[in-house]
Amino acid sequence: MSTEEQFPVEKSDDEWRRELPPDAYKVLRAHGTERAGTSPLNEEHCPGMFRCAACGQELFSSDTKFDSGSGWPSFFKPLPNAVATSVDKSLLMRRTEVHCCGGHLGHVFPDGPRPTGERYCMNGVALKFEPKA
Ligand code: FE
Repeated sequence: MSTEEQFPVEKSDDEWRRELPPDAYKVLRAHGTERAGTSPLNEEHCPGMFRCAACGQELFSSDTKFDSGSGWPSFFKPLPNAVATSVDKSLLMRRTEVHCCGGHLGHVFPDGPRPTGERYCMNGVALKFEPKA
């Protein structure tokens, strides 16, 4: 798991606020959490690629998506070097935050399915799905 983050996309807070829809801004740039069960991506079962809603980088393949029952789109593995992680001690918990281009995507938990045992619990609003052509 990578702990070093590269920032291929550097934008000011004002730029992100202008470019992202308000709900995506709130999650990506203000560490928000979308309400469970609200993302259409929960029900997205087609083959394709999940990209970062901010920078467009490919983050998760549909091959690694699974139904966690959490109400958030969940994956057992990101693409190689696609996301970065850091320790998040907010809300009196110690969690591992997952991010891309300096934006908050969600958290990863050690209770996922085989083969990794990891559960990448993502805010759907931070992702964009691109169906396989
Ligand atoms: Fe990104």
